[in-house]
Amino acid sequence: MPKAKAKAKAKAKPKAKAAAAGPREERKEPWPPECPRSKWFLARVKGGGWSATCKMHTDSDSALQCKKQFRPRGFSDEAMRVALMNWLVEGTRIGSDWPLARTEHVLSVDIRSLPERTEAELETAARAFWAAVPDG
Ligand SMILES: [Zn+2]
Repeated sequence: MPKAKAKAKAKAKPKAKAAAAGPREERKEPWPPECPRSKWFLARVKGGGWSATCKMHTDSDSALQCKKQFRPRGFSDEAMRVALMNWLVEGTRIGSDWPLARTEHVLSVDIRSLPERTEAELETAARAFWAAVPDG
C-alpha cells in the first residue's frame, strides 16, 4: 500500500490507532496538530501524567525509543502537556547522530529547568523545526 494511502487509512480509524498505542497511554495526539512531517506525539497516561514521544534520538547501542513521561505533583494537566512540548522542542538541539542522543534527551534535559515558553511559542518553534526537516 502506498504510504499516503496507509496514512489516510490510519486517519480514518482513530480507534484502532489508540489500541495500538498500548494499554498505558490514552489517545495519542500528534503534535503540533496538522503538521504531517512531525514525528511527535503527546498522550495522557492512565493513572496520571503525560508522555511525549520524540522518536528522533537513539543511543548507538540500543533500540529504545526517545520518549518521556512526566507526572510531577502540583502540575495541572495543561501544565504537564506544555512542559512536555517544551521538552520536545528542547530536543531539537540534540543531534540525532550523537552516540548517546536518546540518553542526552531523556535523562540530561531537565524539564523543570527549561526556559518558560507558552504553548503558542512552542508550537511556532515546533512548526518551524519540522518545516526545515528535509523530506524522507
Ligand atoms: Zn528525543
